[in-house]
Amino acid sequence: MTKLNGNKPLDRNYFRYKDNPKKKNEKQITECCDQDTEHDMLNANNKEDWLLIEDYIERNLREYPSTESITPIVCKECGRLKEYISKLKFNRKLPGD
Ligand SMILES: [Zn+2]
Repeated sequence: MTKLNGNKPLDRNYFRYKDNPKKKNEKQITECCDQDTEHDMLNANNKEDWLLIEDYIERNLREYPSTESITPIVCKECGRLKEYISKLKFNRKLPGD
């Protein structure tokens, strides 16, 4: 069977491997969340990384009183940290009120 072009989604992996044929067998982007595996991202499944995530959030909560909570958004498949979502307090009191 000959390989036809077309009829398939062209994603980041496609272009990555296209430009780096040598690295064809290396997985460079996670399939579950499109993260670059060369990037050393924090992973919530890793105990030490989770402590760093907690530490980051704790520091931010202390530094920014208007932040009510921070949600670390991680990939449900592999646990890689994707982003932090901050929830801001409404009706916050100004110091001295
Ligand atoms: Zn993932």
